[in-house]
Amino acid sequence: SKKPVRVAVTGAAGQIGYALLFRIASGEMLGKDQPVILQLLEVPMEKAQEALKGVIMELEDCAFPLLVGIEAHSDPMTAFKDTDYALLVGSRPRGPGMERAELLSINGAIFTAQGKALNAVASRDVRVLVVGNPANTNAYIAMKAAPDLPAKNFTAMLRLDHNRAASQIAAKTGKPVAAIEKLAVWGNHSPTMYADYRFATIGGESVKDMINDEAWNRDVFLPTVGKRGAAIIAARGLSSAASAANAAIDHMRDWALGTNGAWVTMGIPSNGEYGIPAETMFGYPVTCEGGEYKIVEGLAIDAFSQECINKTLAELEGEKDGVKHLL
Ligand code: NDP
Repeated sequence: SKKPVRVAVTGAAGQIGYALLFRIASGEMLGKDQPVILQLLEVPMEKAQEALKGVIMELEDCAFPLLVGIEAHSDPMTAFKDTDYALLVGSRPRGPGMERAELLSINGAIFTAQGKALNAVASRDVRVLVVGNPANTNAYIAMKAAPDLPAKNFTAMLRLDHNRAASQIAAKTGKPVAAIEKLAVWGNHSPTMYADYRFATIGGESVKDMINDEAWNRDVFLPTVGKRGAAIIAARGLSSAASAANAAIDHMRDWALGTNGAWVTMGIPSNGEYGIPAETMFGYPVTCEGGEYKIVEGLAIDAFSQECINKTLAELEGEKDGVKHLL
């Protein structure tokens, strides 16, 4: 049987953590033949550590055959020791009336410390996914704080936007969501992201031709996908934790186990592809194979798409600027 891998999760006692950990432990993320050791990080506050103990009791009570170890931590220097996968979920949410600069600087401190800890103690091929918002910029900060690790191993979650876009297209076309191929989401995990179905196909047929409604794209589809998180908070009174956790599982599973040629979206550091400045943590269409992702290159970018990409890029550059002094 396979050697266990170490999976670190931060914010482990939070809402997303609660929707995420049981699925990692059951083998949905890394495969039904891959034993895992969970290394769970929460803030040192007693309330959070107590809540984490409760989550661990429940994990124990599931008696998952693949879960061969569970650790509770309050310090990233121990939580990330030898970790092969790190899901950085915990981050400071934007409080009412909180300035953007304040949010960026609080999270700057968290993700600098976590990047340094990964740099110091994690496996040299650790694969990192940042879920905590602002996810792209937090991932950028962690990457910059970890100069000894491959920059390409730091990623941000755009998969929820990708999955939301796929589900809207399935509803619009009346086709099963699993039939949709070649969907792309560009940019920042924020309402500025650009979900792009110009290349998408269903059964080899162009989705754009099937829908054939540019007004729907601009006035319905893009705002619906962009504001979906807010719509769920309004409806449920709570944020979209389960679908966020599901997207994190999808992102890591596809990265680790491959996509068989299918396109998925990941937020990854640019090497200049599509004119995005190097190191920008940007959502791109990728395929994954052998534990590596590869950007889908050579796609034509029309004027409207370029405008959308410029807008989400400008937002990311602004965030990057806002944390420059922390790096
Ligand atoms: P959640 O588990 O609901 O959310 C965690 C983070 O994920 C937030 O930044 C949230 O952003 C983000 N997120 C990204 N996509 C989504 C989405 N679709 N829906 C909802 N959230 C999304 O937050 P909780 O407050 O329940 O839990 C956070 C936990 O993290 C707490 O237990 C806290 O103690 C811990 N924490 C741990 C840290 C650490 O380990 N060092 C540091 C800071 C906090 P958004 O704010 O935009 O909703």
